[in-house]
Amino acid sequence: MAKYKRILLKLSGESLMGKQHFGIDPERLSDYARQIKEVHDMGVQIGIVIGGGNIFRGLSGAGKGFDRVKGDQMGMCATVINSLALSSALGALGVKNKVLTAIRMEPIGEFYSKWKAIEAMEAGYICIFSAGTGSPYFTTDTGSSLRGIEIEADVMLKGTRVDGIYTADPEKDPTATKFTDITYDEIYTRGLKVMDLTATTMCKENNLPIYVFNMDVVGNLKRVMDGEAIGTLVHN
Ligand code: UDP
Repeated sequence: MAKYKRILLKLSGESLMGKQHFGIDPERLSDYARQIKEVHDMGVQIGIVIGGGNIFRGLSGAGKGFDRVKGDQMGMCATVINSLALSSALGALGVKNKVLTAIRMEPIGEFYSKWKAIEAMEAGYICIFSAGTGSPYFTTDTGSSLRGIEIEADVMLKGTRVDGIYTADPEKDPTATKFTDITYDEIYTRGLKVMDLTATTMCKENNLPIYVFNMDVVGNLKRVMDGEAIGTLVHN
């Protein structure tokens, strides 16, 4: 039995780059698709949000002279590109899935609604929620907390390249230690960078637990669903 019945999986756009400096690494993409198929085969209902940072970020665009709102719209389009790539990789494995978009852009994806998403997940489709929230000045972290809350997910799984939340950045500070679990309030007081604060607050206020784990190790998504304590749980 899987630990969770319905999950919202957040993947960063950056990790899609794999060993590349830009764009989508086909090997990383198919590793992700295989891991997702593995838990889909367990009967888990899956919603996915994928970032766009491997292609474009509104904020860094603004630093280079782009209008912020247009830059954010470019970022949202980037998440659609990544979502289509993941959809295609899942399709190649025979996994039924739909790309839903927060901004109308048929026939690239269907326009998102909570009920459409739940109906599709109950019918065995994986739903990939693209274009974030559809609004500028937000991120895909906020997009995933929003969608996770809307679809009544049991947990938001944040797949990253580190295996959980540490007292300090483990890539910079070798003395950093990992939390098995932590409250949202501690995230604020310790100033930890887990997700952006808007997203963290939405999860706190709506009681959506976040589980941070290393998605770049093949098999880890299944380990989380098997109940192995490989990451960090954030809760109230
Ligand atoms: N974005 C936005 N509104 C949203 C979600 C995303 O404007 O609701 C834009 C924003 O410019 C962001 C970019 O899309 O920089 C890519 O998303 P994100 O940075 O969250 O991707 P990640 O860093 O996780 O790869």
